[in-house]
Amino acid sequence: MPYPHLLAPLDLGHVTLPNRVLMGSMHTGLEDRAADFDKLAAYFAERARGGVALMVTGGIAPSIQGWLKPFGGRLSMPWHVARHRKVTHAVHAEGGRICMQILHAGRYGYHPLSVAPSKIKSPITPFTPRALSSRGVERTIGDFVRSAQLAREAGYDGVEVMGSEGYLINQFLVERTNHRRDAWGGDAERRMRFPVEIVRRTREAVDRDFIIIYRLSMLDLVEQGQSWEEIVALAKAVEAAGASLINTGIGWHEARVPTIVTSVPRGAFSWVTRRMKQEVRIPLVTTNRINMPEVAERILAGGDADMVSMARPLLADPDWVRKAMDDRASRINTCIACNQACLDHVFQNRRASCLVNPRACHETELALLPTMARKRIAVVGAGPAGMACASAAAERGHAVTLFDQAERIGGQFNYAKRIPGKEEFHETLRYFGHRLADAGVTLRLGTCVDVAVLADGSFDEVVLATGITPRRVTFPGSDDPRVLSYLDVLARDRPVGARVAIIGAGGIGFDVAEFLVENPPSPSTDIERWAHAWGVDMSLAARGGLDAAVAEPPQREVWLLQRSEGRPGARLNKTTGWVHRATLKAKQVRMLGGVAYERFDDRGLHVHADGKPSILPVDNVVVCAGQEPFRPLADALRAAGIPAHIIGGADVAAELDAKRAIDQGTRLAATL
Ligand code: FAD
Ligand code: NAP
Ligand code: SF4
Repeated sequence: MPYPHLLAPLDLGHVTLPNRVLMGSMHTGLEDRAADFDKLAAYFAERARGGVALMVTGGIAPSIQGWLKPFGGRLSMPWHVARHRKVTHAVHAEGGRICMQILHAGRYGYHPLSVAPSKIKSPITPFTPRALSSRGVERTIGDFVRSAQLAREAGYDGVEVMGSEGYLINQFLVERTNHRRDAWGGDAERRMRFPVEIVRRTREAVDRDFIIIYRLSMLDLVEQGQSWEEIVALAKAVEAAGASLINTGIGWHEARVPTIVTSVPRGAFSWVTRRMKQEVRIPLVTTNRINMPEVAERILAGGDADMVSMARPLLADPDWVRKAMDDRASRINTCIACNQACLDHVFQNRRASCLVNPRACHETELALLPTMARKRIAVVGAGPAGMACASAAAERGHAVTLFDQAERIGGQFNYAKRIPGKEEFHETLRYFGHRLADAGVTLRLGTCVDVAVLADGSFDEVVLATGITPRRVTFPGSDDPRVLSYLDVLARDRPVGARVAIIGAGGIGFDVAEFLVENPPSPSTDIERWAHAWGVDMSLAARGGLDAAVAEPPQREVWLLQRSEGRPGARLNKTTGWVHRATLKAKQVRMLGGVAYERFDDRGLHVHADGKPSILPVDNVVVCAGQEPFRPLADALRAAGIPAHIIGGADVAAELDAKRAIDQGTRLAATL
C-alpha cells in the first residue's frame, strides 16, 4: 500500500477513522449566510467523496459576542440547526464524517459586542472588548456546551473547540491578555480553567462517541505567550476532561512569525507536536504546511503525530486522499500556500476559493459538464490561463491543441518558481503537465503561432492566452546594458552585480529583490535555518516559543524603488505582504517611495527622492515596472476575420495574477 502510515485507520475508541487525514477548519464565507448552506454542503460533500477521514467546518460562533464579524456563522439557537443538517446529511451521504468548529473570537471579534477576559484591545482589530464578569464567563462556557449539543442535534460527528490562533480561549490562558484576579486568572492553573471547563462540561453533555477535538496552541509565537510546561499541563487536563483528539495550533493571528505562507518550509512545525507525543495518550494531530502525501507520510512514520491536518490542500484538490490511495500523487493539484484566493478573500469579506482550483467553494456554480458538441479548439499560450483553459476544455470532451513558443509549459510560472520561497510553483507545473496529458490535449511546444497556423480552418474556436510583455521605462541611460529587465535576471540568467536598484516595487519587484538578496539554497527548504531567521525557539525554553531572530547577511545590497509616495509593498496581498516586507527589511533592503528616476551612468542611478537629488551607487538596475498585454495575434486574427477569445494577461495585464488567469481560463472552458 502506498503511504502505509497515512492510510492506516485510526481507532478513537468509539469511532474508527479510515485514514489519518483531517481536513482542518477553514473559513470559506459560506458558513455566514443561511442561503449559502447548500453551497457549503456541496463543498464538503465533494471532499468527503474524495476520501478524507474527518473534516472540520469553518469557525462557528457559540454566541453573538463570539462572532468573528457581524452576522457571522453561529449555532446557538434551535432554529439554526436545520441549515447545518444540510451539511451533515450531504457529508454522511458520501460516507464522510464532519465536526463543527466552535470558535469564540474574543477580542479578535470585528464588532463592538466583543468580549475578553480583560479589557485589552488586540493589535489587529479596532474594537476594544468588554471584560467578561464572572457570571459572563460561566455563561460563555454554557454557550460552548449548548453549541456542541446543537451540533450533535444537527448531525455532526463531533466538535472542535478552537483553543488556538489567539482567540478567546488563548486570551484566557496568558497574562498578556488576562489580568483577572478571580477564579479565571491570576496564575496559570486558574487561567486554564476556562478551556478545561468547556471540554469537561461538553463531554458531560454528549455521549462518548461524539468526537471532541481540542485545538491546542502549542506555540503561541507572541511575547508573554504560554510556557511549554503550561501547554503540557493544559494538554493533560484537556485529555482528562474528555477530549478525543488534540489538534495542533501554531501562532496567534497577531504573531509576527509566518506560519502558513509558501515560504514556510513544509512540515515546519511537526516537531512541536512530536514533543507533545510524550505527554498525552489521546491521538495528536499535527498541522501547517503539509501539502503532499510524502510529507504527511514522513511526519507520521517519524512518530511526530497520529494524524495530519490539511485545510488549504483540500481546497486545492478535493480528491487528494483518493489520489494518494490510488498511488497517483503526481496528479494532486498541490496547494502552493499563496493564500491569494482563500485567506486573502476571507479578509476582504469575499467567498474563499483557490488559485489553482477555481471550483473550490463554487462547486454548484462552476460545473465542467461533458460537452454534447465536440469542437476543435486552439489555445495559444501555455501559461496558467492557457493551461487551465486547455485542460478543462479537453476534459469536457473537446479536441484541444495547446501551443507555446517556449519549449516548456508554464509561461511566467517558470520564473516565479525560481524565487526563494516559491518552490511550490514547481508543483503547479507538474500538475498541469499530467492534467493536460490525461485530458488528451495535443501539446505543440516550440511553436510560435501566427495567423497562418490558425487560418486553415483546422479549428472551430481560438483562444489567445499569450500573456504579457514587461513594461519598458525610459530615462537617460536606460538603454545601457547594465539596465536589465526582470526577465534578463530570471529567464536569461544575466549576471547581476553586488549593488542593485530595482525600479518598481510591485509583486515582481519584491520577488526579484528576494531572489537577489537570499543566499541559495532557499531557507524554505531547511526548517532549522528558517526558524533561526524568524526567531522560533525550537528548544521551547522561552515563553511563546520566541527567540531573537537572526537574519543571514544579504547576498547583495539592494534598493527597492517606486514612484508613488508611501511605503513600498503597501499593495501586496493582505496575508502575505507583511512577510515579504519583513524578509526584505531583515536583509537590509532599502525601500523608497516617491522616487523620480533621472538617469543611469557609471556613477549609478541618479534619482530624486525626499525632495533632494541623490545617486544610488549601483552596478545594475533591474526594471520591474509592471506589464502590458501581449497580443499581436489578436489584431492579425481580427484582420483575417478569425474570431478569438482573449484570456489572462493578453486580455488585461493590470493587476493580473495567476488567480485571475486560471479562473478566467477555466470559466471560458466551461462555456465553450
Ligand atoms: P503567461 O504566463 O505570460 O503565459 C503566456 C504564454 O504565451 C507564454 O508561455 C508565451 O510563451 C506564450 N506565447 C505568447 N505568444 C505566443 C505565440 N504567438 N505563440 C505561442 N505561444 C505564445 N502570480 C500570482 O498569482 N502569484 C504569484 O505569487 C506570482 N508570482 C510571480 C512571480 C514572478 C517572478 C512572475 C514573473 C510572475 C508572478 N506571478 C504571480 C504572475 C503570474 O505568473 C501571471 O499572472 C500569469 O503567469 C499570467 O498567466 P497568462 O497565462 O496570462 O500568461
Ligand atoms: P505591479 O504590481 O503592477 O507593480 C509595478 C510596479 O512598477 C509598481 O511599483 C509601480 O509603482 C511601478 N511602475 C509602473 N509603471 C512604471 C513606469 N512607467 N515607470 C517606473 N515604474 C513604474 O506589477 P508587477 O510587479 O509586474 O506584477 C505583475 C503582477 O503579478 C501583479 O499584478 C501581481 O498581482 C502578480 N504577482 C503577484 C505576486 C504575489 O505574491 N501575489 C508576486 C509577483 C507578481 P509606481 O508607479 O509607484 O512606480
Ligand atoms: Fe492553497 Fe493558494 Fe489555493 Fe489557498 S489559494 S488553497 S493557499 S493554492
